[in-house]
Amino acid sequence: MSDCLFCRIVAREIPADVVHETDRTLAFRDVNPQAPTHVLVVPKEHHATAGLLVGADPQLLADVVASAHAVAVQEGLATEDGPEPGYRLVANTGPAAGQTVHHLHLHVLGGRPLTWPPG
Ligand code: 5GP
Ligand code: ZN
Repeated sequence: MSDCLFCRIVAREIPADVVHETDRTLAFRDVNPQAPTHVLVVPKEHHATAGLLVGADPQLLADVVASAHAVAVQEGLATEDGPEPGYRLVANTGPAAGQTVHHLHLHVLGGRPLTWPPG
């Protein structure tokens, strides 16, 4: 989708600080970070939400989660087999959750204590 910001980042039409890539996923730093680590992980193919993607291509949703975990390990927020020190995955979905880019993305947040519940 040529009018989708994250499709344009995937197409390398808009620059981004890419930290992880597979054949079907891309991870890049958020331009307005809310934590020392704030990375966005997207499927390269356009899907608006996780709920839509899981029906269309469940393996691709699993690939996005696997990439998010790989980013967390790379950033020192987890190990291959454990969740220490820890991180948060967020998928804002729809207007009530404040989703602003309608291309599924997982926020990987970490590097500071994360309070719960979020705002
Ligand atoms: P949402 O609110 O849809 O869950 O999150 C969208 C995220 O995309 C926001 O955290 C915002 O800072 C980030 N963002 C918006 N425009 C750009 C951009 O051009 N490049 C990058 N790297 N992140 C962006
Ligand atoms: Zn898109």
